[in-house]
Amino acid sequence: MRKIEFLDLKEINKAYENSFKDVLLKILTNGWFILGENLLEFEKEYAAFSNSKFCIGVANGLDALTISLKVLGIGPGDEVIVPSNTYIASWLAVTHVGATPIPVEPNLKTYNIDPTLIEDKITPSTKAIMAVNLYGQACELDKIKEICTKYSIYLVEDNAQAQGATCNNILTGSYGDISGTSFYPGKNLGAIGDAGAITTNNELYMNQASVYRNYGSRVKYYNECIGYNSRLDELQAAFLRVKLKDLISQNNYRVSLANIYIDLLKNNINIILPKLANDCTSIYHIFMIRTKNRDSLQKYLQERNIQTMIHYPLPPHLQEAYKSLNFKKGDFPIAEEIAETCLSLPIGPHLTYDDIEFVANNINSFFQ
Ligand SMILES: *Cc1c(COP(=O)(O)O)cnc(C)c1O
Repeated sequence: MRKIEFLDLKEINKAYENSFKDVLLKILTNGWFILGENLLEFEKEYAAFSNSKFCIGVANGLDALTISLKVLGIGPGDEVIVPSNTYIASWLAVTHVGATPIPVEPNLKTYNIDPTLIEDKITPSTKAIMAVNLYGQACELDKIKEICTKYSIYLVEDNAQAQGATCNNILTGSYGDISGTSFYPGKNLGAIGDAGAITTNNELYMNQASVYRNYGSRVKYYNECIGYNSRLDELQAAFLRVKLKDLISQNNYRVSLANIYIDLLKNNINIILPKLANDCTSIYHIFMIRTKNRDSLQKYLQERNIQTMIHYPLPPHLQEAYKSLNFKKGDFPIAEEIAETCLSLPIGPHLTYDDIEFVANNINSFFQ
């Protein structure tokens, strides 16, 4: 029986097997594993991809966000506005620097933070807005940036899911004062392990970030701040350089798959499709639909060997990890509604147009 995997990293990375072997052999031969030429080159290439002046490779996406907040001097007593609908890492970064996450609800069409709800949550302690470009779609970064300028607060982008998306033709990852991204294996640009990066146009932030990722040290054995060990390996950087060359075409391919879903599902009245905000694009890291029959639809598809996922089953404010913030069910009803009705359909370079049609047809037959 035909099987549609949600994600098939074996299949996706098989295309790069020979190139990966080549770079592994080179690195084994030259014997330089940390903070070398591959990282420097990848940083240049990813900065160029993001239309940013600087890129600093770090160990993962959570560290990229945490170090970004550190660089801006955000810490205890400060508040950072975060979306109520996001992967928990966006909130964790705020908590790890000692600041408090202040949730704001998303727009129920785009699933990204609703710019019209932000100003109400700004207080004298607000230092930054963490804009998460969720599921691959750029936030309304132009409107968010205006608010940041008006209140003299920073814009930090969590761009783990949207490398290559745009708002007003400006690339995500270059809109914010500083931006963190992730190259977790399942992301649109995935390493063969953990990896992440910070992008910024500010030279001071770039320098600070490179000190923080390396024990707070600029000169070996001299430490100027309480840093982290959060470096991006030479090997991962070399693998990422190989895959970065295909990111634009793979993003475009995802968009064409998403358009097939949209076309085949648009007349299905039981399904809510994702909508793009004005002047925003998506690279469809995740193709999420919503339906009241989510659980039974997921079961029906599973029985037909179609794998789906839920992003995410429980919003951060209801997680045990955040019980100290004293939120309760009902506090962020839009985020809760999304969690209860969302279903992520398979999408990615491992699937064909025909696969997408097969999934869409099965969804339509479920509702008939
Ligand atoms: C994946 C992800 C992160 C964290 O990245 P890691 O590399 O797993 O630490 C942060 N934010 C969002 C929105 C993500 O999807």
